[in-house]
Amino acid sequence: MSTGIRTKVKQQLARAAGRVPGEGATVLIYHRIGGGTADELDLSTADFTAQADLLAELPPGRVVSLDAAADRLDAGLRTPSTVLTFDDGFADTYDTAWPILRDRALPFTVYLASGMVGGPMRWEGSTAKGAPAVGIGWEQLREMAASGLCTVANHTRSHARPALLTTGELDACGDDVEEHLGTRPRHFAYTWGTPVPHMETALRARFRTSATGQVGRNLPGGDPVRLHRVPVRRTDPIDFFRAKLHGRLLPERAYARIVATAKAVGARA
Ligand SMILES: [Zn+2]
Repeated sequence: MSTGIRTKVKQQLARAAGRVPGEGATVLIYHRIGGGTADELDLSTADFTAQADLLAELPPGRVVSLDAAADRLDAGLRTPSTVLTFDDGFADTYDTAWPILRDRALPFTVYLASGMVGGPMRWEGSTAKGAPAVGIGWEQLREMAASGLCTVANHTRSHARPALLTTGELDACGDDVEEHLGTRPRHFAYTWGTPVPHMETALRARFRTSATGQVGRNLPGGDPVRLHRVPVRRTDPIDFFRAKLHGRLLPERAYARIVATAKAVGARA
């Protein structure tokens, strides 16, 4: 599907959005902002700014840190909560997204692949084409963490494939973050968003939450080792973005089905 068709389909689907803010924690997934590629996971700075403006205009207490959202879930509260998360630790998280987030006092989490800090963002199966993107630096991470807005979380050291996830990968990332930032990450995101059932005991022992790429909101009683998230993509019109925060995610689920169908019939989705 071309970019234009994706956007048009999403504009139509957004009409099915509910008007009531979705209950529980909605954890948004970002990757790159203003990276200058045409990748679906690389949003334009203008689009991200519009989304941040929308989030900043929500009632106070709606956009919260990952820990604050987890606190609400632990307390059995279904309060609508939006959490921003950035996967991998691209330099543009600091260069582009950070000033926009800081100016609006929006809390966020960076799931960091610590072995890529300050170097090329290259790993097996990386979607980045051409010259590799650059990873964020420790100094930038320190600045964001010191603001109180940024939670630095674990995404393995080498961005290990799910099948190769080990406690060594988890602890190496934890050691790197603790060495440079002074605290150990309390949250984790699976690479490729893929749950790894045989690692759940190790994950529960180390982290308060482990985030997947499975689309959904999080309600009290949900499994913290299977946190659901909602992706944000380059071709999301602002109405489709708003729909991620309202109702029961019907437009999001319908779009995922359309993409899956297109792929199944061999279309270039
Ligand atoms: Zn990743």
